[in-house]
Amino acid sequence: MKIMSINCGSSSLKFKLFEMPEEKVITEGQFERIGFKEMGTYKIKFNGEKTESSLLLPDHSVAADHLLKDLIDKKIISSLDEIKGVGHRIVQGGKYFKESCIVNEWSKARIEELIDLAPLHNKAHLIGINAFEKALPNVKQVVVFDTAFHQGMEEEAFMYAIPYYWYSEYGIRKYGAHGTSHQFVANEYARLTNQDIKKLKIITCHIGNGASLCAVEYGRCKDTSMGLTPLEGVPMGTRTGNIDPTVVSYICQKENKDAYTVVQELNKKSGYLGVSEISNDARDLEEAYKKGNEKAILALHIQEKRIADYIASYYVYLNGCDAMVFTAGIGENSDTMRSRVCARLKVLGVEIDEKLNLDRGHPFRISTPNSKIDVWVIPTNEELVIARDTLRIINE
Ligand code: AMP
Repeated sequence: MKIMSINCGSSSLKFKLFEMPEEKVITEGQFERIGFKEMGTYKIKFNGEKTESSLLLPDHSVAADHLLKDLIDKKIISSLDEIKGVGHRIVQGGKYFKESCIVNEWSKARIEELIDLAPLHNKAHLIGINAFEKALPNVKQVVVFDTAFHQGMEEEAFMYAIPYYWYSEYGIRKYGAHGTSHQFVANEYARLTNQDIKKLKIITCHIGNGASLCAVEYGRCKDTSMGLTPLEGVPMGTRTGNIDPTVVSYICQKENKDAYTVVQELNKKSGYLGVSEISNDARDLEEAYKKGNEKAILALHIQEKRIADYIASYYVYLNGCDAMVFTAGIGENSDTMRSRVCARLKVLGVEIDEKLNLDRGHPFRISTPNSKIDVWVIPTNEELVIARDTLRIINE
């Protein structure tokens, strides 16, 4: 049975078509520059061959139609009827979604209601859902939420110390993000080491362009670093992570800006990019680091210190920890970042083998047999979780 996994951004649409339940990727690719006046791009990989083309993409519907036509033209599928389900990644599910669910009027209305909390993302997701509903009217669609896993947090972890009615009236609380990824790598760790997730305390570190950590207790999220929005937590490619909110009013006053503009700068011009004044890309910073560039070194060290701070605080909150897992673009590929973060955790008994740490491309252990915490690198696979949930829900 073929299941399509879809991730719609404000100007992009990423897809992966799976043969399920074999979990085999049939084809994958993406559309970029959707909604622009100029040409957009369409990339697709099939049978080891990559093709790229330019086309006008006024909206996500045009991309969805083009994709489905191309699947037939390229003989990847012989009929659209072969696609039995479409699963969509949704960034913000608020308090409404504790797990993935079928797309219906109610779920679409809730996703729309939550647009304020994730303006760029949720709006794009809805456009994507509508585009596939139009293109494949008889196919069931499922929504899979980045926030669902974090709904397991207790009040003391998800509440901010704010006037209570901000929470009760406006829903201001921690929702977290990357939940699909944290849940996937925690479960993968248990599976790969033949252990029962219900007996494990794991700290998962999703360090990519966006970065968050999660304290996973017995398979449930106990705490996570992202908050009301993905701005909270550790510094990232362009995001500041935690900061004293007074900075916002101070910069507003000094630079005669409004709060919205300053928060945009905390989202888009801070993190690696802001401190290094070089790039938001970890590879560029690593290059500059090697050459001794002081701002690049500082940008990476600020992030690594904060990652270690979170791990230490989760170690306490979990009352001990069996394993740590690194994942996402930087977590999976940057041995230097892992090495420097783990060096800050010696006091917790973390010890890694620098030779093992150089591996990549598959799940592997990097800790020594003496390490008090088992440390692994496990590639994340959010698309697969979406396909699995879609299969399960359309079969229910
Ligand atoms: P993601 O958001 O998970 O796709 O991760 C993107 C980040 O991963 C970017 O900052 C990349 O520079 C980083 N990344 C990808 N490959 C490597 C690598 N080989 N070494 C260091 N960072 C990498």
